Amino acid sequence: MPNPDAALLLGSFAEGASPRLRRCGPHDADVRRLVATGPLSVAFQPIVELDRGELWAYEALGRIGPVSSDLAPLCVSPATLLDAAHDAGCLVALDRRWRQLAIDAMAREPGKTRCFLNIDPRVADDPGFAPGFTRSRILAAGLDPSQFVLELTEVHGENAVLLERALEHYVAQGFLVALDDVGAGAQSLERVLRLKPSILKLDRSLLHGIDRDGARRRLVGALVELGRDLGARVVAEGIETREELIAAVRAGVHFAQGWFLGRPNAHLLGPSPAAREAILEAQRPRRTASPAAFSPPMLELVDRLAMTSELEPALQLVTDGTAVLLGTKRVSLRLLDASRERLLVAARTGDSVHDDAATGFVRGEGLVGRVIESNAPLRVGDAMGDPRFADKPGIRAPIGSFLGAPLRDASGCFGVLATPAEEREAFDERDEQLLRFLAGVVAPHLQARRLERLARTDALTGLLNRHALADAVPDALPGAADAAHPLSIVLVDLDHFKLVNDRHGHSTGDEVLRAVARELLTSVRTDDRVLRLGGEEFLLVLPRAGLEAACALGDRARERVRGTVRAGDAPVTFSAGVAHRREGESRDALLARADAALYRAKAAGRDRIFVG
Ligand code: GH3
Ligand code: MG
Ligand code: MG
Repeated sequence: MPNPDAALLLGSFAEGASPRLRRCGPHDADVRRLVATGPLSVAFQPIVELDRGELWAYEALGRIGPVSSDLAPLCVSPATLLDAAHDAGCLVALDRRWRQLAIDAMAREPGKTRCFLNIDPRVADDPGFAPGFTRSRILAAGLDPSQFVLELTEVHGENAVLLERALEHYVAQGFLVALDDVGAGAQSLERVLRLKPSILKLDRSLLHGIDRDGARRRLVGALVELGRDLGARVVAEGIETREELIAAVRAGVHFAQGWFLGRPNAHLLGPSPAAREAILEAQRPRRTASPAAFSPPMLELVDRLAMTSELEPALQLVTDGTAVLLGTKRVSLRLLDASRERLLVAARTGDSVHDDAATGFVRGEGLVGRVIESNAPLRVGDAMGDPRFADKPGIRAPIGSFLGAPLRDASGCFGVLATPAEEREAFDERDEQLLRFLAGVVAPHLQARRLERLARTDALTGLLNRHALADAVPDALPGAADAAHPLSIVLVDLDHFKLVNDRHGHSTGDEVLRAVARELLTSVRTDDRVLRLGGEEFLLVLPRAGLEAACALGDRARERVRGTVRAGDAPVTFSAGVAHRREGESRDALLARADAALYRAKAAGRDRIFVG
């Protein structure tokens, strides 16, 4: 028995249906009459080749009554009639009528387009089934079977066996076969792998809202790739809006159909002008990324990086170079801090989208945190819509899309090179490859600069350590006129520091050392350097300072430390020796004079500065 809804609908439509039929549903005889002589028709919906924006094929859609592209479907759906015809044993007859209508229309069409014909796999099981009908009708109409694609659809449960039989049957006759509704209902991916049809039609449910859903775009992109692997073309169905079309093109879809591209029509019509325009828009390059790895900006970056010995200028070269190469406005470079958990901005080009307070992402947090965690590049087309996007309070500008790549060496990831863009889908696969390559090229340079910096940095106070002494106090060149470049040093040693440790413990001692370091740093001028030479001994290096200025600065620092740093109740004091470099004097000789002065300051009672 047909289902009651189908019967009722069909009963209300079938010509000559009796009042009894209207109540109880159609007799098989009425269904057979409708199939044989009723007002059946076929509508054609364009399938568009997106690379060219041109018509590629039509799908012939069986209809009951006259085709109207504007009216809602008539009261009997084709699926309902198919079910009723199956029950009435005239499925083959229905199938043949619709097919003949499609073949006739194609024969009137001068162009050599393709046509997709829908096949209900149950026909293979119908008593009236005779293989070779479609092929013979196509040949009789003067057409070529290669113009026709048989589309297998609507399969559930036990019909799966029929589907496979039908597919084999048509493939044996030389037709292309398309599998419909891929990705939905009973059309499993396992079946796709097994049957290897020539064409996969992605179900409309996958495409719906693709412009607003990155996961959907990735899934569709993956299915397109799967199709490529299987040697199958992939047609996306159900494109209903301009935005969906643009997103589908950018997700890599090559063939599509749907209301936005063209509605089913009695006539054979190509894609709508609006659809053509949207396809062009989707293909327009949005930015110009410098195409080749060996482009002039890349070579310039590599050259300049090799000649840059300091960390900060090297970092800046990298973000500036990345912005040029990718054609983006904003690039940030974040490095893991000493805890290896927190990412801090080390350099940036363009405006920040963050308030500075909110720049510290931790491992695994936000998009940059994911790059660190996965140690892999990350490209996100709809950043704000991505669940991995961390909504930090300090974010000022909305970001549309994101591209990031890890900076790494053999021991793992030490930073992230990233670029956010205002618009969605700003980056494609090539951009990702370019950034990945770039990160790979610059990482060893940056890591080398970073390790040098680390080796010259005192871990407790963050000051330069003894390894930086040669740079901070260059040895005077014999015969050089140092008068033009006067330099003074102040050698500082804390008073009775051993007692601080003994009385308050080592960690208080460490805290005192850090506090003294801070006070010394705030006492000096921008060009001056502060080093921790070891233990509780510090060195202020004061370029261009004469003896008098050096003494004054040293004394200010002494007052400041004494006034602000305490160990328990007692103020922390230091003694210091000051020396102004004599003409041609070596570093060691200069330091020896300062040391002698310091010794005398200690001997004279501490908490004072002597000149060497
Ligand atoms: P003086 O006034 O003569 O300079 O006496 P002092 O006690 O400061 O000098 P001394 O050289 O006898 O002792 C230095 C102390 O500094 C001994 C050592 O344990 C301590 N010290 C050295 N490095 C560190 C450190 O990193 N942390 C802490 N807490 N103490 C340190
Ligand atoms: Mg001391
Ligand atoms: Mg000492």
